[in-house]
Amino acid sequence: MHSETVAGLIAGLRARKYSATELAQGLLERIQRAQPELNAFISIEAEAALAAAAAADRALASGSAPPLTGVPIAHKDIFCATDSRTTCGSKMLANFISPYDATVVARLRAAGAVVLGKTNMDEFAMGSSNETSYFGPVRNPWDRTRVPGGSSGGSAAAVAARLVPAATATDTGGSIRQPAALCGVTGIKPTYGRVSRYGIVAFASSLDQAGIIARTAEDAAILLRSMAGFDERDSTSVDAAVPDYVAGLERPLNGLRIGLLKEFFDQGLDPAVEACLRSGLEVLRNQGATLREVSLPNLPLSVPTYYVVAPAECSSNLARFDGVRFGHRCEDPRDLKDLYERSRGEGFGAEVKRRIMTGTYVLSAGYYDAYYLKAQRVRQLIASDFARAFGEVDVLIGPTTPTTAFEIGAKMNDPVTMYLNDIYTIGANLAGLPAISIPCGFVTGLPVGLQIVGAHFAEERILNVAHRYQRETDWHERAPEAYR
Ligand code: GLN
Repeated sequence: MHSETVAGLIAGLRARKYSATELAQGLLERIQRAQPELNAFISIEAEAALAAAAAADRALASGSAPPLTGVPIAHKDIFCATDSRTTCGSKMLANFISPYDATVVARLRAAGAVVLGKTNMDEFAMGSSNETSYFGPVRNPWDRTRVPGGSSGGSAAAVAARLVPAATATDTGGSIRQPAALCGVTGIKPTYGRVSRYGIVAFASSLDQAGIIARTAEDAAILLRSMAGFDERDSTSVDAAVPDYVAGLERPLNGLRIGLLKEFFDQGLDPAVEACLRSGLEVLRNQGATLREVSLPNLPLSVPTYYVVAPAECSSNLARFDGVRFGHRCEDPRDLKDLYERSRGEGFGAEVKRRIMTGTYVLSAGYYDAYYLKAQRVRQLIASDFARAFGEVDVLIGPTTPTTAFEIGAKMNDPVTMYLNDIYTIGANLAGLPAISIPCGFVTGLPVGLQIVGAHFAEERILNVAHRYQRETDWHERAPEAYR
């Protein structure tokens, strides 16, 4: 059962091959067993999961069960949920219980999904390796001395280790796609505004978007269908019909125009990773797609642009954690200033503090024009580059990450090197575009990801390309030896 896809589980549950309770029990055991090795979870919600599974079994027996009834999933611990704590990987929120559910949580529950727990993540989703979590690093199931990527490293590791068939995640600068690539699974970041951000702990509000990590594009399509759509409680969610992502999966690739991002192949790409990517492109060409090189001249500016915009927004968003209304409060404050300073000083980790300081600096009087305003202008140039490219091609393809998973500890003392992991993923966030990472090979036993970026609201198209690729390849079916 643990190696079934979401599509397979939906069929198996309905055919009564197993019950939702058996399924939840089996996976909860796997999660418990893997937890000391991988640390993929922050909370394991066995009791709530078994109650939800029993309810799912009753719904299945009654014959009127919503589409995901009994399907086990996990949520990244950035999604507020009333039935578990929501820590966001931080000491600041280590004991926080949300009074309401995120829209994504509510929608997936309404669709019948059974939540087994909350997954580990970089603190406040700031990181590319899962090492900034207050709850300790997550380990990569392919090689436990290596990082799973971040910030949604727990979700990616859990899916790769067959602990859950799918998990929610968020992507501000690559946090769905980068860990999906490093763990050999499929991860989609939808168009900005496609999925409601209501109830997701805010990092950088103009970039944050929720999506899915699963093993196949088909499973991602199934789950996204239940998550996406307008939400009046998120003013940036877009009021546009949600297509049936599953219905579009089989569309032939004949005539598909693929753009190869010139800038992505220039910048420090590991030649072995590039070789996997090139053979992946052949798979698409054999199905009738055409390839041409496309240049986005401003794309190399994405990392510096992001590392002004994201910290600026985070410094504002994280001002709410003041020891008064939310989260950690220091012992015996002398006065209000002491309360603020010590509560924040004790509650936040080093990377979060670094972002808050950078963000505060670039927003301060005298520097605002030089840094923040300039970054916003460059962001617009990058978005225009993408818009121009989508006048010529249907999708853009490139690597997801420059290298395979690196060793735990290798980049923690060098923030700039760490930030460069996101060099291929950040552009889509700055431009608000949908993008998916799918497994396309291995280099010395470690997975490699291929990234497909689409035009705004072209989730259907990128899922279609990913699915057609997965029909011809079996990279996504490989499992780490210890977790088969
Ligand atoms: N790694 C990037 C960062 O540290 C992106 C994180 C994310 O997408 N949440 O900001």
